[in-house]
Formats: sequence, structure tokens, C-alpha cells
Amino acid sequence: MTTLTPSLIGPELAALGDFDAQACMNCGICTAICPLSTDVLPRRLMRYAALGMAERVRQEEEAVFSCLLCRSCEENCPAGVHITENVRLLRRWLLEHPRRLN
Ligand code: SF4
Ligand code: SF4
Repeated sequence: MTTLTPSLIGPELAALGDFDAQACMNCGICTAICPLSTDVLPRRLMRYAALGMAERVRQEEEAVFSCLLCRSCEENCPAGVHITENVRLLRRWLLEHPRRLN
């Protein structure tokens, strides 16, 4: 079951900077271009974050920190999403909200 965490987008990510993944149209162009060639970066990651899927974002921590910040994705994004800035914000958010240990 997927738990949604509306506070992930606002105020948590919004407090860290100009998070704009909500503008994503889910077209997949960024993932087709990403040199890491995973289906997590960047399309799914933007969707997880925009929908407030905090646990999914945490599960993709390795992908978030493996991003090269090369900007190839956002230079071709038809929605003008600032993907690399969003990745930076997600890195900060992950560092400030580590996964809970049971
Ligand atoms: S290219 Fe832009 S609009 Fe398309 S999936 Fe990626 S972030 Fe979303
Ligand atoms: S900035 Fe990150 S997500 Fe975007 S294309 Fe480069 S490695 Fe992939």
C-alpha cells in the first residue's frame, strides 16, 4: 500500500527551495535522455515527490544521490521542470528526514 504524505511537497520541500515537480506532465522524455538509464531517474522520482510519496522517495535514496546533476533531462523537459534543483532539494530532504528504524 502506498502512503501519501502531502506535507512532503508543502511545507517540507517548499521550505528548502523552489520545488516545482508538480509541473511534470509525466511524458518520460527525461528518463529517455538520462545517462544513468534507470526508470527511477528522473521521471518516476519527480512523480513520487510531486504526489507526496515520501516512502517511495526514501526507497530511491541511492538513485537520488547517484544523479550526476548534468541537466540533460531538464534541458529537454517540455514542462520546464527544474529537475536537478528538485534532486538537490530531495537530497537535502532525505538528509533531514532519514528513514525511521523500527
Ligand atoms: S521531461 Fe519533464 S514533464 Fe516529462 S516526465 Fe520528465 S520532468 Fe516530467
Ligand atoms: S541531471 Fe540527473 S536525472 Fe537528469 S539526466 Fe543528469 S543524471 Fe539523469
